[in-house]
Amino acid sequence: MSDCIFCKIIDKELPAKIVYEDEEMIAFYDINPAAKVHVLVIPKKHIPSLIDVAEEDAGIISKIYVVINKIVKDLGLDKSGFRVIMNCGEDGGQVVGHLHFHILGGEHLGTKIVR
Ligand code: AMP
Ligand code: ZN
Repeated sequence: MSDCIFCKIIDKELPAKIVYEDEEMIAFYDINPAAKVHVLVIPKKHIPSLIDVAEEDAGIISKIYVVINKIVKDLGLDKSGFRVIMNCGEDGGQVVGHLHFHILGGEHLGTKIVR
């Protein structure tokens, strides 16, 4: 996807502060953090959104949670807690059309899920 900013980060055409990378995933700090720690975890495969996840992607999606588990431990969020969010579509507030999981933490986030 030539016009996708996250594909450009994967291809190292755009800079990012990478915290994790393997053959299938990459994770980097969000450029506009919504919490003290804000990391995005994305599959290297260009899947536009949750709506586009196919049966064949089941392995990647489950592995993302294993990668998130590793990242939160590496960043020291596992004891204090953290939040994982995925926005989907316009009402869900998705801006970048490449599937991504937000990891938010490093501070108390409260109990509200929206607004
Ligand atoms: P969403 O609203 O779920 O689509 O989230 C997209 C996220 O990508 C936002 O939190 C942006 O701050 C973040 N973002 C956009 N461009 C970049 C970039 N070049 N590097 C890191 N994060 C980015
Ligand atoms: Zn992409």
